[in-house]
Amino acid sequence: MNGLLSVIIPAYNEREMIPKAAATIAEILEQAEISYELLFVNDGSRDLSWQCIEEAADQNPSIRGLNFSRNFGKESAMFAGLSEAVGDCVDVIDCDLQHPPELIVQMYEKYQEGYDQVIAKRNRKGDSRLSIVFAKLYYKLANKLVNVEMVDGAGDFRLLSRRTIHALLELKENNRFSKGLFSWVGFNQIYIEYENQERAGGNSKWSFKSLLSYGVDGILSFNNQPLRICIYLGGIFMGISILYLLYLLIEILLHGIDAPGYFTTILLITTLGGIQLFSIGVIGEYIGRIYFEVKKRPVYLIQETNIKEESESE
Ligand code: UDP
Ligand code: MG
Repeated sequence: MNGLLSVIIPAYNEREMIPKAAATIAEILEQAEISYELLFVNDGSRDLSWQCIEEAADQNPSIRGLNFSRNFGKESAMFAGLSEAVGDCVDVIDCDLQHPPELIVQMYEKYQEGYDQVIAKRNRKGDSRLSIVFAKLYYKLANKLVNVEMVDGAGDFRLLSRRTIHALLELKENNRFSKGLFSWVGFNQIYIEYENQERAGGNSKWSFKSLLSYGVDGILSFNNQPLRICIYLGGIFMGISILYLLYLLIEILLHGIDAPGYFTTILLITTLGGIQLFSIGVIGEYIGRIYFEVKKRPVYLIQETNIKEESESE
């Protein structure tokens, strides 16, 4: 069986890594005699990444590139790649070679055995202890709240069959949390483990703030559990207040009005105020998401590509 493999490589300020990634991946796939295309998606890089992609494409006709009009984020880059890929299956891989490209061959073999999603799962060797603890806690919490399964270490490095790609493209949401979407579409899945890798060049684009917002996204995009938590909290506090009011009423009937009550007053104002603000925040987050979804803006805009030329010359 010989299916064309499209390798999608999102790139944002990866000038250093593009030539290396292109050469390494192409060599590995040629040696394994897999027919392939490399589809670089330049996500609005501020450096010469696009020129690097064009140069690589001049040298190797199996390399294609999309150039975004600005930085849309890796999720958008992946979505563009999935939309434009012509292969029978697609492998998404980072440009920084943190995802060992040799693994693509193994993943492709699994695909040929009939798997729809071959998921490369990294261990956390070499990560700081703090980030390991955080990750563990996060996945515990997320999996409790969210109704799709999220697996620690299983990210975007995976091979997808045509029907999986088709399913993913059917999901038209604007705010794309791929980790959840991949899991939501399902199909036959298999995991392959690999060792955590250091970045070979350039810098990671993640900051603590972006990680936090990614984490919140993961929980909010896949369920309405947080809204439910607000209802429960409201219910519990309403119950307690009614009981307390009854108690006060009986006290007043029996002993008359007892003026001191400063502590309980402050306590109620602050806790209730806190819970109300928290709940409004949760509701606001969901409304914000609705607001962006109803706009139906495209997930990405392409400024130029070297793909068109081929179809025009046909
Ligand atoms: N990336 C992208 N758009 C962005 C940020 C990152 O296309 O806005 C690409 C980046 O070029 C790389 C991949 O996504 O190929 C993973 O990025 P990074 O290495 O910074 O993330 P990490 O490996 O630290 O999770
Ligand atoms: Mg990286």
